[in-house]
Amino acid sequence: MAETQQQQTFNFCSGPAMLPSEVMATAQSEFLNFQKSGISVMEMSHRSPEFQSILESTEKRLRNLMQIPESYRVLFMQGGASLQFSAVPLNLASQHLRAGFLNTGYWSQKAMTEAAKYVDVIEVGSSEGSRFKSLPDVFDVDFNELDYLHITPNETIGGVECWPEFGEIACPIVADMSSCILSRSIDVSQFGVIYAGAQKNIGPAGLGIVIVKDELLVSSELDDDIPRLLNYRTVAKNDSMANTPPTYAIYLANLVFGWLQEQGGVAEIEQKNIKKAEMLYAAIDDSRLIYNDIDISLRSRMNVPFFFHDENLQSAFLEEAQNQGLLNLSGHRSQGGCRASIYNAMPIEGVQSLIEFMKKFENSHV
Ligand SMILES: *Cc1c(COP(=O)(O)O)cnc(C)c1O
Repeated sequence: MAETQQQQTFNFCSGPAMLPSEVMATAQSEFLNFQKSGISVMEMSHRSPEFQSILESTEKRLRNLMQIPESYRVLFMQGGASLQFSAVPLNLASQHLRAGFLNTGYWSQKAMTEAAKYVDVIEVGSSEGSRFKSLPDVFDVDFNELDYLHITPNETIGGVECWPEFGEIACPIVADMSSCILSRSIDVSQFGVIYAGAQKNIGPAGLGIVIVKDELLVSSELDDDIPRLLNYRTVAKNDSMANTPPTYAIYLANLVFGWLQEQGGVAEIEQKNIKKAEMLYAAIDDSRLIYNDIDISLRSRMNVPFFFHDENLQSAFLEEAQNQGLLNLSGHRSQGGCRASIYNAMPIEGVQSLIEFMKKFENSHV
């Protein structure tokens, strides 16, 4: 098919997710010959001046976008977000060998299960009682006795976004921001550690980004058990080059960060994200065929699950959507239903197309 006849597609995949089309075009144009070096970034020594400057630029742009204070280190690691489920307890179990978790759904529980291999896991709150659809109940816990408190501000699968206010508590807060990093303005100084897998809002899968407060780079009770590449101090000391870093993924992250700066930064993209989510939830709430039953104040701006009152309609919906170029709208295998992931890279036109399609589908099926 000629390029001009190709149908426009919008990819609503939850991750690996779509990347900005401008970024993909730049990567394509530089693929074989990066800035007159004669080779691809993929073929380049990680110790070369070219790659060094990519790495520095990536960190600088991220620091600028998130206004990361000087007293924090930015680490580029591997293993996505899930390897951080192990790295966090291994590195932060500095005193009590006990960590608190706010249980808000699927990814909170994954993090808890992994941490429980190394430390005592205490639930400081949970929304399991409402099947993770409402604000978590908070339990009476002494934060003095915890090495850290772990939260998952955006539950990617449940479609729940919850930014609890703990105020001044006695232990550092660790946040898995895999699916919400850079989607809204946050105050980094409220957190001890922020981590994210790259494949939602940053770049290709495999890369993990860790933002850690200097003062937490101290020895842990578990030091002897930490694999070298999971040790934050080792990674920090080696400027994220304790071994060959995922160079091409870092290069793409650098392009995505540059794109985000061109969009006006996080505050601007946040306004677009609010608008996209409002439009989509309004269309769902107006529909007679589909619903979203998450507490309105907790509805995720990034991941929008929806379900058919008559489940028999779902497969026709997904199939027709795909034929219209609206891709990857089926829900997570653990939940069923449908889900539209609308991260930073999803343009407003993509959300508009989805809404138009939902209306058309409804008109022909009511
Ligand atoms: C996607 C996701 C993960 C898992 O990421 P991997 O890179 O596959 O390990 C963990 N936490 C959250 C919140 C996610 O959205």
